[in-house]
Amino acid sequence: MDASDIRSDLSDVLYTADEIQQRLDDMAAQIERDYDGRELLLVGVLNGALMVMADLSRTLTRHCEMDWMAISSYGSGTQSSGVVRILKDLNTDLAGRHVLVVEDIVDTGLTLAYLIQNLKSRNPASLEVMAMFRKPDALNSPVTVKYVGFDLPNEFVVGYGLDYAGRYRNLRDVGTLSPHVYS
Ligand code: 5GP
Repeated sequence: MDASDIRSDLSDVLYTADEIQQRLDDMAAQIERDYDGRELLLVGVLNGALMVMADLSRTLTRHCEMDWMAISSYGSGTQSSGVVRILKDLNTDLAGRHVLVVEDIVDTGLTLAYLIQNLKSRNPASLEVMAMFRKPDALNSPVTVKYVGFDLPNEFVVGYGLDYAGRYRNLRDVGTLSPHVYS
């Protein structure tokens, strides 16, 4: 669905589907240059990275492999719980692989810091992160996101894989929710 389908649920549309795809085109081109001559393994973080993984991988004009992890994050609220748990692990052995973690959004960076530490211990040849969205707090976190789609204001957003209480993941655009949705 598009923002126009649920107009009253949104107070703002921050990025449209077209703007997201245009940014992905640039990022994919950069990633192709950086990984020239190297096999690439994309590691997606479920459930939020579902859309960005699907779109990034299809925008690439080269081969890549994909695998998935699921880790706990916000639950049904809008505040980070700070609790990180692996709910589903990878099927792939990372030893010697060039790994690019594909994230929907980096907020505090808590989740990503845990993930990076965990994946590094599996001895990949290289490990970098791509995130479609980043919030200002992430700049104070100890993790480096090499490829950032867009920087967002410090607000809770939905769409393009990002949910509120399980809904809005299938919104093509990204926006902020109207207060009436929370109450
Ligand atoms: P962090 O650990 O960086 O604070 O949070 C990472 C996870 O929290 C993201 O992968 C995402 O699932 C969730 N998250 C952070 N900010 C938002 C947001 O604005 N909207 C939604 N729907 N989820 C968010």
